[in-house]
Amino acid sequence: MKNTDLCIVIPCYNEEEVLPETIRQLSAVMDRLKASGKITAGRLLFVDDGSKDRTWELIAAHAQPGSWVGGLKLAHNEGHQGALMAGLEWAAAHSDAAVSIDADLQDDVNAIEEMVDRFNEGADIVYGVRKARETDTWFKKNTALAFYRLIRTMGGDVVYNHADFRLMSRRALQALLAYPERNLFLRGVVRLIGFNEAYVYYDRKSRFAGESKYPLKKMLAFAVDGITSFSVKPLSLIITGGFIFAIVVPVIMIIYALVQHANGHTIPGWTSLLVSVWFIGGIIMIAIGVTGVYIGKIYKEVKQRPRYFIDRTANLESK
Ligand code: UDP
Ligand code: MG
Repeated sequence: MKNTDLCIVIPCYNEEEVLPETIRQLSAVMDRLKASGKITAGRLLFVDDGSKDRTWELIAAHAQPGSWVGGLKLAHNEGHQGALMAGLEWAAAHSDAAVSIDADLQDDVNAIEEMVDRFNEGADIVYGVRKARETDTWFKKNTALAFYRLIRTMGGDVVYNHADFRLMSRRALQALLAYPERNLFLRGVVRLIGFNEAYVYYDRKSRFAGESKYPLKKMLAFAVDGITSFSVKPLSLIITGGFIFAIVVPVIMIIYALVQHANGHTIPGWTSLLVSVWFIGGIIMIAIGVTGVYIGKIYKEVKQRPRYFIDRTANLESK
């Protein structure tokens, strides 16, 4: 049996309503894992992603020596992916494996035990995959489905119905840290790492309390980010659009202009001018579109901005 130090990373943004229950349930999972000898040590690492409510106070109050709870307080709201990265980076330096899970108890905490089993059998990355989405609203279910499909058709590789509920071994975490990009889409990057993969299936529940922190606007931004950090297909789409303006529309305009010409509704030069305006416009659109997308990406990466700053920690000193 391996000596396993397990870190569970929980990003939290304004989660005061669910935190006490999350801490209770995850602590019970840790107790069980320890009692059965599947882990020898561990930490529940709550990452406060710049919350505006009492999230940090709650984490700090529970982060007592002897408890499983520890806390990282980020200086600013970095978003789900940024908060996860902060926690995983800590875990890569201090633990043998890390499980990432949302604070809202939508993912089945009991699946963690199975993930640890797979890890102890030699898996490096264990994906938590939802069996069904019965509790999600029609809207959430279908936008999420469309999201996976879109990413797939755009050439990204993601595990179907897997969010960010997964276990990663230390070497997988270290591999993840070797990706320096700021256009971070964890689900896609993890797939690129390789190593031994395994899957655990579970039922996803509805939020224990509080509201989704992913309104439609954030979901759309997330989808755009996911696609543009992984695929150059949008570039070819712009080119397609440009070709339509440069070739298809001029053809229609030629027919229109010729008909007008035949009817004698034109003055000399109008026909050729009209066609070239559309043609040149299309060519320019292609050129600007392609260049713009590349510059946008380079701009983001070249700044090499830090991903986050840690403001405070709680109950992590002993490690
Ligand atoms: N979250 C975060 N920073 C943010 C938004 C969300 O750390 O800016 C956390 C949030 O506390 C939760 C997880 O990310 O633990 C997923 O968010 P949520 O449950 O609101 O998303 P949904 O399940 O509705 O997609
Ligand atoms: Mg949720």
